[in-house]
Amino acid sequence: MPTAEPTIFERIVAREIPATVVYEDDRIIAFEDIAPKAPVHLLVVPKTAQYANVTELAAGDPQLLADVVAVAQKLADRYAGGQYRLIFNTGHRVGQTVFHVHAHVLGGDQSEGTLG
Ligand code: IMP
Repeated sequence: MPTAEPTIFERIVAREIPATVVYEDDRIIAFEDIAPKAPVHLLVVPKTAQYANVTELAAGDPQLLADVVAVAQKLADRYAGGQYRLIFNTGHRVGQTVFHVHAHVLGGDQSEGTLG
């Protein structure tokens, strides 16, 4: 359910704040993470604010989850030689800070950074 206070990602979708957008279609947007944890660090974000995490997305719209994964692969092919980590943080204790489902696409040398 959308909340009264839009998340930072809703504001990016609405173009209220800038982002370096690398992919967009009618349901998904992808952009560079503002604080990269790897040489390639992109966020793939369903535009809808309906789902707070990947579990909700999988239950509510599995096709949209599949499309998020396909976009992640496409971007990894373009920017990271096709090899990447795909991370969905779920819950504040493991570092989720934006409660609007998003996939982290991390590419490049894994020794250079981790999420945490
Ligand atoms: P989470 O910790 O899994 O919720 O991931 C949220 C991510 O959003 C973090 O990696 C942040 O660096 C990133 N982030 C926060 N604000 C912005 C922004 O304005 N533009 C791009 N990325 C952002």
